[in-house]
Amino acid sequence: MNEDIEIVGGGLAGSEAAWQLAEAGLKVRLSEMRGGGERTPAHQSDDLAEMVCSNSFRSDDAEHNAVGLLHQEMRDLGSLIMRAADKHRVPAGSALAVDRQAFAQEVTRAIESHHNITVVRGRVDGLPDHPAIIATGPLTGSKLAEAIASATGEKSLAFFDAIAPIVHRDSINMEIAWFQSRWDKGDGKDYINCPMDKAQYEDFVHALIDGEKAEFRQWEKDTPYFEGCMPIEVMADRGIETLRHGPMKPVGLDDPKTGRWPHAVVQLRQDNALGTLWNMVGFQTKLKHGEQVRIFRKIPGLENAEFARLGGIHRNSFINSPRLLDEQLRLKAKPNIRFAGQITGCEGYVESAAVGLIAARFSAAEFRGQQLLPPPVETAIGALLGHITGGANSETFQPMNVNFGLMPVPEGRVKKTDRKKAYTARAREQFSKWFAEYAVPTPLLSQAKCSGT
Ligand SMILES: Cc1cc2nc3c(=O)[nH]c(=O)nc-3n(C[C@H](O)[C@H](O)[C@H](O)COP(=O)(O)OP(=O)(O)OC[C@H]3O[C@@H](n4cnc5c(N)ncnc54)[C@H](O)[C@@H]3O)c2cc1C
Repeated sequence: MNEDIEIVGGGLAGSEAAWQLAEAGLKVRLSEMRGGGERTPAHQSDDLAEMVCSNSFRSDDAEHNAVGLLHQEMRDLGSLIMRAADKHRVPAGSALAVDRQAFAQEVTRAIESHHNITVVRGRVDGLPDHPAIIATGPLTGSKLAEAIASATGEKSLAFFDAIAPIVHRDSINMEIAWFQSRWDKGDGKDYINCPMDKAQYEDFVHALIDGEKAEFRQWEKDTPYFEGCMPIEVMADRGIETLRHGPMKPVGLDDPKTGRWPHAVVQLRQDNALGTLWNMVGFQTKLKHGEQVRIFRKIPGLENAEFARLGGIHRNSFINSPRLLDEQLRLKAKPNIRFAGQITGCEGYVESAAVGLIAARFSAAEFRGQQLLPPPVETAIGALLGHITGGANSETFQPMNVNFGLMPVPEGRVKKTDRKKAYTARAREQFSKWFAEYAVPTPLLSQAKCSGT
């Protein structure tokens, strides 16, 4: 190879990574299978950075929203994806939505015309022995997926990703819910329990059965379906008692208000080391997002639940990053390889591009013999990276959008109405410090201007 580094996959993450490395002065080969006689089942064009579904980068509010904050940090770091999105934005209130085709064409033009980038249209089937970033996304080609699985000891990379909703701890009503492990095993704080009486349970089961569901896409129907990720509403449909004998089993759980087992229980398990996020155990679902919020708020204790992530079941490919990657996104078993994008276990266009950006920054620093410290966990990009490389439990690791629950709770008393601003103000401060101390004098950074305070 004549270039310094290869990026495999020209999606949101790979395009951003290629741009960052090229701007830092490195020679980059970007290998993308589309345009070389291949397509994924979801992509429609040969453009780089194609958005396969919605045209939204979600909220652009950097003061009250974690993804808006992530937009801002990426802009500060000279993101090509954000530059193209800003240029091709379409009206969408406080959200950043884009003209999808114009956006992807803009990114493609910028990459293809960069003097430091060579785009090769062809599929890569194995893990390279030279420096490389793998950014092949949720629909990674099957031969490469097999090679990654065999290099990492994973059984398989492509499967139905059964996602249960995740709730912000501070939105759970602990006047109703209580901490207890079944039969008092563990340290007593392992689960939060939400009780239901018979009438509440039956009403809930019927709501699950009647709720509006999202459809499987044709190509998703061909992916193996595991009994272990049965949607909650499918279980509910098997009989009124099924859930009471499955994920909503009340045995061994004493409601402190009555001293007795309730008729049924919804359990939530701690999902991150900070204890700010709690996972609804066994609640993977194909219900539409609006329906999930409506129906799950019927659960006593979750009347005002705020969801860090809603449930879903779709085809995905991702690696167990907390176990396999170091804090610089290097594969521990083969450190010439970094991973970026959705395959690392982040979720969404913006998050994937952000992980591509930071993976490239780590690589650029390494080429210079320097060490770039990861951004602090109080920043959006640092929080996302923390989830991928260590914050999450490797046993239960699941893809995640960026959200405030991935950051430590701000110190001191903060009024609920000011809480989001407290997160973002602290993040901007921490980001500015990290940015100022940034050790790598890339041409890009010498021109970039941090907008943090
Ligand atoms: C059906 C579907 C719908 C989605 N809807 C949304 C949504 O509405 N909003 C949202 O934010 N996110 C959505 N996502 C998630 C979205 O795909 C990711 O957030 C984002 O595209 C991931 O970026 P990435 O760069 O990691 O992967 P991708 O953007 O998928 O890019 C990976 C690239 O690698 C290429 N590639 C794969 N294997 C090889 C190989 N062996 N050799 C060479 N090239 C290869 C692919 O052709 C592709 O261009 C959806 C995903 C799917 C599958």
